[in-house]
Amino acid sequence: MSDRGPVEAADALAAGSPAAEDPAAAGEGPAAVGPAAEALAAEALALDAADPLAALRERFVLDPATVYLDGNSLGALPKAVEARLADVVSREWGRLRIRSWEESGWWTMPERVGELVAPLIGAGPGQVVVSDSTSVNLLKALVGAVRIAREQAPDRGELLVDAATFPTDGYIAESAARLTGCTVRAVPPEEVPAALGPRTAAVLLNHVDYRTGELRALPALTSAAHAAGALAVWDLCHSAGALPVDLDAHGVDFAVGCTYKFLNGGPGSPAFLYVRGALQDRFDSPLPGWNSHADPFAMAPDYTPASGAVRGRVGTPDILSMAALETSLGVWDGVGIRDVRAKSLALTDFFLRCVAAHAGGGAVGVRSLTPAEHARRGSQVALLCDPPEQAEAVMKELIARGVVGDFRRPGVLRFGFTPLYTSYRDAERAARVLGEVIGGAR
Ligand SMILES: *Cc1c(COP(=O)(O)O)cnc(C)c1O
Repeated sequence: MSDRGPVEAADALAAGSPAAEDPAAAGEGPAAVGPAAEALAAEALALDAADPLAALRERFVLDPATVYLDGNSLGALPKAVEARLADVVSREWGRLRIRSWEESGWWTMPERVGELVAPLIGAGPGQVVVSDSTSVNLLKALVGAVRIAREQAPDRGELLVDAATFPTDGYIAESAARLTGCTVRAVPPEEVPAALGPRTAAVLLNHVDYRTGELRALPALTSAAHAAGALAVWDLCHSAGALPVDLDAHGVDFAVGCTYKFLNGGPGSPAFLYVRGALQDRFDSPLPGWNSHADPFAMAPDYTPASGAVRGRVGTPDILSMAALETSLGVWDGVGIRDVRAKSLALTDFFLRCVAAHAGGGAVGVRSLTPAEHARRGSQVALLCDPPEQAEAVMKELIARGVVGDFRRPGVLRFGFTPLYTSYRDAERAARVLGEVIGGAR
């Protein structure tokens, strides 16, 4: 899918976009002039004043000169992290040294931090472990899923993989297939139900498309996989911390996700692995490191897997990153993921309206690739530039003017909305500056 030229690929993206005819995002229509622009600015102030989550912004290190809309790549720093890391370094490591594995609770951190992630993804206790990267956890989940699928049906030899997946998922799926003697078939998520069959071992899907921000139908696609006797593996990188996932309620088998995007764990913070409780005893990890042994300190020559979430561990946990993540997750105290979702949808709706008002009629056109329909929208807005070659320069200029999003080839401007700290004023300012950059209305 990557051997097309950028313009062709952009057309393909746009053609597949359900928002292509959405007038709110089409950037056509009359340009916003003084009073319309002022009305949006006033509305932003009113929305912020009425926002029940507005005070959470105080829990983060932010700078007033910058509108930070890249929390879907690297979440902002929660204020409490700095002191926690200083303590871990100077006291736990510096003074207690090896005693900290017990006295500071280092050894059990992967499960303990997993329990903090669990409620955000709808997982009951004992099913989530924090460990390694998303890429590594994908290998565990995919090989684990295929091995379980094959217990009863050894001829299940196909892995279906989201055709629009974030690349690492596809690379790892190929390797998981080689390790298990399967083949991989790339399928657009909406075609998965028709592609499932008696040969399908497992399906790997991204909950939210990292480029377009489209949210996939996790409940329906999981049931379809189960109806065909296959296991469902979900990548939650762009949904964990952004919207309700309800893994237990929908019977998802395996899930992975990173913690440095909407969970604000810090650069390279360890990822999570969810293994449904009923499958844990059958989970045969392809990376059975000593940390996942039933009795690691027996130093036994033979491997006996631990039971429960611990089985998903591999080697010695990265305590510094894990400590940053543990403290970061404290920002969720008293915060409901459903309230976060409501604000995320309101913010992205408002941003799309502001873009339509400010960014129409410029030298560079923009069109939303993100579904207008709430049920199919994650927590980001992706705008396709016309011509797409301009997108990189547009994002560079936006960043120079204090609006930080990111650029994805072939011509996509990505803006991530993190309801814990993004304000309606941020959304309004980002759209206004975008209009200035692309020569749209003022
Ligand atoms: C961000 C992201 C990843 C990142 O994987 P790492 O191993 O943490 O680098 C994987 N999959 C998806 C869908 C992502 O969005």
